[in-house]
This record gives sequence, C-alpha cells and structure tokens, in this order.
Amino acid sequence: MKLRNLGNSGLEVSAVGVGCNNLGGRLDRDGTMKLIPAAIDLGITLFDTADSYPVGKPGVSETLLGEALGDRRKDVVVATKFANVMGPGEMMRGGSRRWIMTAVEGSLRRLKTDWIDLYQMHFPDPNTPIDETLRALDDVIRAGKVRYIGCSNFAGWQIATARAASRELGLNAFASDQDEYSILVREVEREIIPAARANGMGFLPYFPLASGFLTGKYRRNAPMPEGARITVAKIFQDNYLTDENWQIVERLEDFCQTHGKTLLDLAFSWLLANPTVSSVIAGATKTEQLAANVKAAEWALTPDQLAQIDRISPLPKTKKIH
Ligand code: NAP
Repeated sequence: MKLRNLGNSGLEVSAVGVGCNNLGGRLDRDGTMKLIPAAIDLGITLFDTADSYPVGKPGVSETLLGEALGDRRKDVVVATKFANVMGPGEMMRGGSRRWIMTAVEGSLRRLKTDWIDLYQMHFPDPNTPIDETLRALDDVIRAGKVRYIGCSNFAGWQIATARAASRELGLNAFASDQDEYSILVREVEREIIPAARANGMGFLPYFPLASGFLTGKYRRNAPMPEGARITVAKIFQDNYLTDENWQIVERLEDFCQTHGKTLLDLAFSWLLANPTVSSVIAGATKTEQLAANVKAAEWALTPDQLAQIDRISPLPKTKKIH
C-alpha cells in the first residue's frame, strides 16, 4: 500500500482509506468487527468517520470503530469530524469554542482513544468567527487531544480565509479539506482543489465511487444489485442514475475495456492521479470490496489517457453572463 502525505503536513495516510459512514447503519456491528481488521490487514491506515455518523444514530460509527480497532488503534490514522448536529436545540453543533471543547471529549470517549489524528470541521459555521474555531482547535492540539486539523465542505474563499487567519494568529492550520469528488462529479476542480493546493493542504474526496455507481455493478435497464446503497435509496438513484451519467459511465467502461481494466480501477486511479488527493476514503460494506478497492488504486494513468477521460467526462463549462 502506498502512503501519501496529507498536504504539506508530516501525516502519512494510505492511498486507499476507509470511509466509515456505514458503520452501525447499513453495516451492522458484526460486519464492522470483520471489516476494520480486514482493512488493516490489507495495509489500509486511514479511517474516516464523524461524530454524527451514521445518519440518524450519531456516535455509533465512532463507538464501533473504536471497538473494532482495539489494540491496533496505534497502527492507524483515525480521522473524525465535529460541527454537524449532535442533538436537539442549537447548542450541540457548529464551530464555537464551547462546542468544540465538548465535542472532542465525546469523540475521544467513543473512539476509546487518547488522541484523534485528524479532527475535521464537518461544515463551515456561519455563526462563529473562524478565528474562534481555529484558536479552540489549536488548544486541543496543544492539549495533546488532537494531532492535525482539517476542514470539510468549505468553499475556496473559506479555505483561503482560514489559512490566512492561522498564519496571522500563529495557530495550527487546516492540513486537509474534504468534499465530494469523483470522475462523475468534478466541480471541486474549479475553486476548492486549487485553494487546497495553494495552501499546502491535502484533499480527501468523499463519494469517490458515486455511492457505488462507479464500481460497475449497476447496469442500465437491468435489475439493480440486491441491498446495495443506490438500490435501496431513491435519493442516490435521483442523484446519480441520470441519462447523462449512464452515457458517461458506459463510455468510461468501453475505455477501461480497451486497456484491460475495470471501472473500479478507473474510479480509484483517476482520483489518485491528482497529486492534491491524499487518500481515497471509499466506504465498503463487505471485506471483498476492500481487497478490490486496494487493487484498483494501482493503475498509473498516462497524460494521454487522462486527456481521453477529460473528453468523456469533462468538467462542465461555467455559464458566464456578459
Ligand atoms: P462511496 O465511497 O462513493 O461509496 C461507497 C459504497 O460503494 C460502499 O458503501 C458500497 O456500498 C459500495 N462499494 C464500495 N466498494 C465497492 C466495491 N469494490 N464493489 C462494489 N461496491 C462497492 O461513498 P461514501 O462511503 O458515502 O463516501 C466515502 C466516505 O466519505 C464516507 O464513508 C465518509 O467517511 C465520507 N463522507 C464525508 C462527507 C462530508 O460531508 N465530509 C459526506 C459523505 C461522505 P454497497 O455495498 O451498499 O453498494
């Protein structure tokens, strides 16, 4: 397994990570206890969760991850997040000093660890000045509870503003940003990835497999795989299974076939061809998926192949009004 630095930081993470938003949701406790050790056995070192995972059962993903890691916690990089809603009312969320000091203790307790390797702000908080958030995060680093900090779902200007504030105030800065990115959803290439790169940050793509659409297991006009995420959730069908996306995916599959590769190989290797991408944190529901995902990261795409892919799945043009 190749390791990559998280941006300009000294934190090394495996090129293939595991997204943990399924734990305790679509993947039950027994499945989690098998999946996490299997991932470590395959050389995966990055596990990305959040205090709010899984949807509707906040805290359960962290609890199961901590349990499944057990003694092997010291061998891996645990990334979690704060700022999403963790309870009723307006107090249990956001980026205030008050909430961060409470949220970090909750995550440490559930993860059964003394430190969080990467503590990410899940969403920007329009009601808290970024200076306050960064000072509180700097304090939890200095207290030894957190090693590195990151952000998620930040706009390009918010990334740049946060970095400037850290520099000005002499505080630890965000080492990474996380946002949706896949060969089908390339919007982050416009502002967000350039902002991350310019500020020495790594980028962690979420929904890298378009929730499983880019694994090749969905076929147009054919029954969908039983129990799979897109099969069971209409919202993902509406998001991904559009006529335009089917056309792109079918052309990408033809491209892969001519190179003796699979769509899954392309989904991972295309993201990793971008040097700002630190790790592809795909979710998984079965241990066999993990092995396939690790293997899929091995295709070294040439500039000519990347140009062909740009023609099949281009970054949509912006509409300018003059
Ligand atoms: P994803 O990686 O695009 O899709 C993962 C799903 O694809 C799996 O749960 C599995 O679902 C299927 N799959 C994975 N590998 C496969 C294989 N080899 N063959 C066949 N099917 C396979 O989506 P994601 O897991 O939601 O996103 C990744 C991570 O990003 C999350 O776990 C989470 O940590 C993070 N995230 C962050 C945010 C944020 O706001 N920061 C938002 C969303 C996600 P089935 O088996 O059910 O098909």
